[in-house]
Amino acid sequence: MTGFRDDGREALEWAARYLERVDELPVLSQVDPGELRSRLPASPPDEAEPFSAVLRDVEEILLPAMTHWQSPRYFGYFAISSSEPAILAELLAAALNQNAILWRTSPASTELEGVVLDWVAELLALPVGWHGHIEDTASTSTLVALAGARELAPERRVVVASEHAHSSVEKAVKTLGLELRRTPVDDAFRLRPDALDLTGACAVVATVGTTSTASVDPVPAMADACVRDGVWLHVDAAYAGSAMVCPELRWAFEGVDRADSLVVNAHKWMLVPVDCSLLWSRRPEALRAAFGLVPEYLRTAEATEGIGEYGLALGRRFRSLKLWAVLRCYGRTGLQRLIREHIRLAELFESWVRDEAGWEISAPRHFSLVCFRREGSDEANEELLERVNASGEIFLSHTKLDGRYVLRLAIGQERTTEDDVRVAWDLLRRDAAGL
Ligand code: PLP
Repeated sequence: MTGFRDDGREALEWAARYLERVDELPVLSQVDPGELRSRLPASPPDEAEPFSAVLRDVEEILLPAMTHWQSPRYFGYFAISSSEPAILAELLAAALNQNAILWRTSPASTELEGVVLDWVAELLALPVGWHGHIEDTASTSTLVALAGARELAPERRVVVASEHAHSSVEKAVKTLGLELRRTPVDDAFRLRPDALDLTGACAVVATVGTTSTASVDPVPAMADACVRDGVWLHVDAAYAGSAMVCPELRWAFEGVDRADSLVVNAHKWMLVPVDCSLLWSRRPEALRAAFGLVPEYLRTAEATEGIGEYGLALGRRFRSLKLWAVLRCYGRTGLQRLIREHIRLAELFESWVRDEAGWEISAPRHFSLVCFRREGSDEANEELLERVNASGEIFLSHTKLDGRYVLRLAIGQERTTEDDVRVAWDLLRRDAAGL
């Protein structure tokens, strides 16, 4: 144990130091494909090495090959944060190595997961009594929800979603042997309810906070149609769902209380490191019908079922511990503060773009995502993105809207300040002027 304690101190010191200097590192990794591989031995060591050798190689070899999602100037895709309490909880979870395949193999993990899902449901003002459990990603959560929907209506093979629904919906549909019907969107990138066709549909997926623009589908109208035709409504709020913790933002989630299932990624905007996706359902019996297969060797005398009866995986790590740590160490007010500050920063950036000649806002801003572009060709915007990202100062990603190349600035990192957003804007303007 002496080695473990000493190595542990070193590792924790390394992690603390990393977080202190992450803003000095190039946000986007500057290595070429294959460069890391060429620096590592082709074969594993024959003899044991000390942990200090691993730590040294993390610093010297792996670190240059990292894109720093923990950087305050990471603005790509949806920016995320791994908070300090959650990092420590991950360490404890690894030490405990709970595998909650059944209630008896980890009563703590099984029951804590139920408790924290109820806590988050309360924070997000979800209906009382929904069944919640944790999956690895929103991709899995959506797959599980759609499997539940298919179970209730096996003769209906269609899943309906907007053109802007995340690709995970299409993957889930393919995996389940179903068919995807894409519905067109309006000029604000929201599904058009007048174009909804639920013929043969077992499920509809509404997105609150789409991946490209964070647009909000008209959930109440979609819920009406689902009730009329007896179709399962799944809401994908993987990114935006955490914003429900702020009462003033709940207008965007109107109708979500009528869903049959809902996914919110705690690893997106709730300070929990990847992976931790929260899936609630008002119809857990459908999920259990799809996944509740218990072989003889897993039968026990307890009446309590394992969480694995509601999803695909049997082995389950102790993900609820890091979420519990965040909920306790930030509280409702800490989570609200984070969301409000990120939205304030996004509003500020949006106002700078709007007020500057030669730039345009490309989609209505929702939550903490700004879609914008420089007036001019797609090629020029693409080159601008490549330039600012190559600088290592900031990292942004892009999308295409109505066929045009658009830049996205997504705020979601806990460390991001107004100064960081200002750096991004100054750099964009400077590089655009030089094009
Ligand atoms: N849904 C939406 C709206 C997303 O933006 C994303 C990813 O960004 C996903 C689903 C997929 O999330 P995951 O990586 O957890 O599968």
